[in-house]
Amino acid sequence: MEKLYLVIPCYNEEDVLAETKDRLKIKMTNLIKNKVISAHSKVVFVNDGSIDNTWNLILDFHKKDKLFTGINLSRNRGHQNALLAGLMTVKDDADMVITLDCDLQDDIDVIDKFIEEYKIGNDIVYGVRKSRKKDTFFKRNSALMLYKLMRLLGIEIIYNHADYRLMSKRAIIELEKFREVNLFLRGIVPLIGYKYSIVYYDRQERFAGKSKYSLKKMLSFALDGITSFTIKPIRFIVLLGFVIFLISIMMLIYTLIRHFSGQTIIGWSSVMTSVWAIGGLQLFSIGIIGEYIGKIYLETKARPRYIIEEYLSDKKRNQNSN
Ligand code: UDP
Ligand code: MG
Repeated sequence: MEKLYLVIPCYNEEDVLAETKDRLKIKMTNLIKNKVISAHSKVVFVNDGSIDNTWNLILDFHKKDKLFTGINLSRNRGHQNALLAGLMTVKDDADMVITLDCDLQDDIDVIDKFIEEYKIGNDIVYGVRKSRKKDTFFKRNSALMLYKLMRLLGIEIIYNHADYRLMSKRAIIELEKFREVNLFLRGIVPLIGYKYSIVYYDRQERFAGKSKYSLKKMLSFALDGITSFTIKPIRFIVLLGFVIFLISIMMLIYTLIRHFSGQTIIGWSSVMTSVWAIGGLQLFSIGIIGEYIGKIYLETKARPRYIIEEYLSDKKRNQNSN
């Protein structure tokens, strides 16, 4: 029977962890009892450099129950890197992996459907939110805008899919070949290909604790999502430059005509507005190009995307208990 691993990134999640563990225990026990998955399946918590009690809780779960294991990252590397660390660590042991958030905002009752889809031959199953009524107004709308903007820029992502997904072993092995440091898994996974399907669910409320995505993290995530997948913004700047160049030629002709027909006027306001407009556009454009150069800089360094401090494997568990 096939082994299912759940990979769950956790950053300062001491408030939700115990409840999450209990709910997942029930879920996994049922799946094992009904012979849907192997009894050697696991729940892997990835501690993304939490500064609260999260890792101690994970150690405790692991000690008391072999269903639970953990990976301790050497420091906070962000949600996407934590997910990747989890996937790469368990890929040899697992036949399929489901990634989900620690706060269980993603309904765990659709795990059964994920597995059904996997069993009929899908390598990737995307969880897609039917409704986001329970998200805050800001979160819901900013996320929708990002999806729309990315679509507009021609980036292939699954609408309203976050990182709740199942991947088969071979899909994860292929994922490893994507070496980018600016990680945006939602954009990369569709590039792997293979047969996929979509399962719909309702997004729940976070049952305890606060969102770990600060505005800053959200913005940099959105920027990564766009700049790692398309150079359209740079093309747009080129186009803009060209259009402004055409306008300036027309302006030149217009000015010359006015000049030679002796109709020069004191054009202070028009000069001022164009100076500001062009100045602003230039700064904006340089900024966008700088963003891409920054990306290139980070990619050429090819620094490790995560560093694992400790992995609570079963082998170690037996040694420890000896
Ligand atoms: N997370 C993480 N590292 C971070 C930020 C978040 O591992 O730097 C985890 C967090 O613990 C949670 C998941 O990513 O399991 C999603 O975060 P959260 O629920 O706070 O985001 P939201 O649901 O508000 O988008
Ligand atoms: Mg959440």
